[in-house]
Amino acid sequence: MSTICAISTPLAVGGISVIRISGERAVDVAARVFFPFSSRSVYDMPGYTCAYGEVRDKDGGVIDDAVLTVFRTPKSYTGEDVAEISCHGGIFVTRKVLRVCLDAGAVPALPGEFTKRAFLNGKLSLTQAEAVSDTLSAEGDHALRSAALMRKGRLFKSISEVRDTLVKRLGELAAWVDYPDEDIPEVDESELLASLDECKARLEKLLRDFDSGMLIKNGIDTVIAGKPNVGKSTLMNLLLGFDRSIVTDIAGTTRDVIEETARLGALTLKISDTAGIHSTDDRVEKMGVRLARERLKECALIIAVFDISEPADDEDRELLEFINGLHKKVVIVLNKTDKAAADRTAFEKYSDHIIAISAASGEGREQLTEVIEKMFTPQDYNADTTIFANDRQKLCAESALGCIDDALAALKSGLTLDAVTVMVDRAAEHLFELTGEKASEAVVNEVFAKFCVGK
Ligand code: GDP
Repeated sequence: MSTICAISTPLAVGGISVIRISGERAVDVAARVFFPFSSRSVYDMPGYTCAYGEVRDKDGGVIDDAVLTVFRTPKSYTGEDVAEISCHGGIFVTRKVLRVCLDAGAVPALPGEFTKRAFLNGKLSLTQAEAVSDTLSAEGDHALRSAALMRKGRLFKSISEVRDTLVKRLGELAAWVDYPDEDIPEVDESELLASLDECKARLEKLLRDFDSGMLIKNGIDTVIAGKPNVGKSTLMNLLLGFDRSIVTDIAGTTRDVIEETARLGALTLKISDTAGIHSTDDRVEKMGVRLARERLKECALIIAVFDISEPADDEDRELLEFINGLHKKVVIVLNKTDKAAADRTAFEKYSDHIIAISAASGEGREQLTEVIEKMFTPQDYNADTTIFANDRQKLCAESALGCIDDALAALKSGLTLDAVTVMVDRAAEHLFELTGEKASEAVVNEVFAKFCVGK
């Protein structure tokens, strides 16, 4: 296999950059470009050791001072010999170090190729590799924690247990079906039923948690709605933590839908601040209002804002009725508590979640965070819940579940055991595909194509 090389840090100016080399010739490539200040030879460096020295081009010109770290097979990320050069984090210098490594015999790594090699060398399961990708894209505590658990192999273990149960039953079934004349104990159908039922329940739980997990991981699609001037933009800024929307005193200034990402406790909200939902004659604003209503229909959470320093009017009631008809998760925010005391009575029939805040001063932000966290974190869901990382894994689990359902139906309707065997076998295959133990090359390539170069 070739020796690959890539810049593993972002190509931007920073403190340090890391150029990673992996493969049989990794140490040789490093020795040709990196010269330790001490008299030691790069070839003699044991695994897990570093050397301070300089990177030189082929004419001996110094490119940069750097630190070389050597990992020896199999104790490295990829399982191969790995050399990492940490140089100064300038774009030009980083590229130059990469160039000399390529000139010394390494070839450019493809996206995700280091992690792919780790998978092919048995350092990671496919689900663990997918977790690496999740760690890179995690935007909130829950997402990061669930990726960390998956990297540790939690999902792999969970799926393997279900699959091992299926395989064990398959063994009994196959022996019974293939050697009916031998003295093999008869398959206990009620035991088989119970064990298939258990596999079914475990997969169903994983699939249920997936939906909550995806919301938590990808961010909750949230709309802040309310008539003009109630404080939507101010609330959005409060949630984002800095001034993003333009806040003015003129009613109707937030015309377009602005989308931002806010971290709220362990959750991530993808928030749009919409044009005020109200009847208007202004053409531009009308478009905004229509857009806002469409967004309300699609989103997962509505934060409806009201100005409690003014009495609720027809526009407020119209918004409440409209939202009520959508049957979504709604938090009613009674804003401007610094100006007046909040009277909840008019709002109570529309939502169980009513929070009084002052978006301007920030008072009430914590209560709002708490309520939203509770709304979106199911009781049996916590940061330690095992979830699928993506649709690929989910589809495999769904297919396996479908086969188990078929097997159960076949058993209950008294079909022959060979029919049941075929279905259980298929279910196990889908789970082998999920963990990557029997994934086709196309599936494996697809998984790693989503990675960045250098990972
Ligand atoms: P939007 O049109 O709903 O986006 O409302 P804005 O966020 O632009 O706010 C309208 C006006 O209300 C601005 O002058 C804000 O400074 C003011 N405002 C917003 N929140 C509060 C609050 O909690 N207390 C007070 N006193 N004023 C607020």
